[in-house]
Amino acid sequence: MKGKDKIVCNVAVIGAGTMGPGIAQVFAQAGCPVKLIDIDKVVLKQARERIKSSINAFKQAGVYGARKAEATLSNISFTANLAAGLKTADFIVEAIGENMELKRTLFKQVEKFAPAGAIIASNTSTFSIDDLAKGSKRAGKYMLTHFVNPPHVIPLIEVARGEKTSDKTYKFTLALLKQAGKRPLILKKMIPGHLINNFNFAILSTALGFMGQGIASIEDIDRALTEALGPRYSIMGPFKTMDLLGLNIIWQSVTSFDPNAHSDPRIKELRKLYQAGKLGMRSGAGFYDYSDKTYFDTLNYYNRRILETYKTAQEK
Ligand code: NAD
Repeated sequence: MKGKDKIVCNVAVIGAGTMGPGIAQVFAQAGCPVKLIDIDKVVLKQARERIKSSINAFKQAGVYGARKAEATLSNISFTANLAAGLKTADFIVEAIGENMELKRTLFKQVEKFAPAGAIIASNTSTFSIDDLAKGSKRAGKYMLTHFVNPPHVIPLIEVARGEKTSDKTYKFTLALLKQAGKRPLILKKMIPGHLINNFNFAILSTALGFMGQGIASIEDIDRALTEALGPRYSIMGPFKTMDLLGLNIIWQSVTSFDPNAHSDPRIKELRKLYQAGKLGMRSGAGFYDYSDKTYFDTLNYYNRRILETYKTAQEK
């Protein structure tokens, strides 16, 4: 590792399938030399083409200038040789298929070939980092870094440390990701699917359910998200949305959907706020505090931002 303020470190990304090429691009565009590793040479060739095409698209969209495009591509090298790919690695991202045995077998090899100080991050969607690091003498070096597809486009990344992850590993990972333009979402606890996939699967399974019951055409089910919930959720998350709708309404809806909800520990906080008369934006407080602005100011601010999302969508 070189440099005091700017981190310049050697990155290795293992697995060049759906996620690996985009992850490699993230670090390469941040100035890090990256080795993209895959056991399959055909996949590596395709990965090179994918990265080239993505860099070109970024150039055309004005995200990169010509020099940055060239530098990003030249920062990435491709190899099917794990030992060679890991020889000088400081930061390793594992992005092979979602199979615990395959990942554990790979990590044993990683620990054999990578320098002792290297951080080992996994892009796993479902496994806990503690399970992946089980039995490792380097458990202090393991991290979860769950990129969102497409990883080089979406800044948000889910990050978690394991029980044995050292502070140094954790801090370095966050600093490197931030430098690479990522916006970490810190998971305090790990659950299978983390946070985003659980949200996403809830939506997808609901959509499939609506289709199965013939509630609406698939086009209209899609429109419920793209034309109503999507624009609003791009501005305000579920807690701000509940504050907007009114916690009295949310409380009444939850308890009318499920009469046993009163004793459900998951809605303890909602019940507390409802009983305290903190009913959201209208009352000046709910999950969030709005006391520094009038109700109309807050409402108009969000309405304006939601309107802007429709305008942007129409311009395309
Ligand atoms: P993928 O199947 O598209 O690619 C995996 C690649 O790993 C393949 O090209 C394979 O040849 C290679 N590989 C397998 N074993 C290897 C080894 N021992 N050494 C080197 N290369 C090896 O998988 P993916 O969709 O890119 O997912 C990778 C990881 O990222 C998974 O853990 C997945 O859960 C997670 N993830 C996927 C997505 C997504 O949208 N696909 C999103 C977030 C996270």
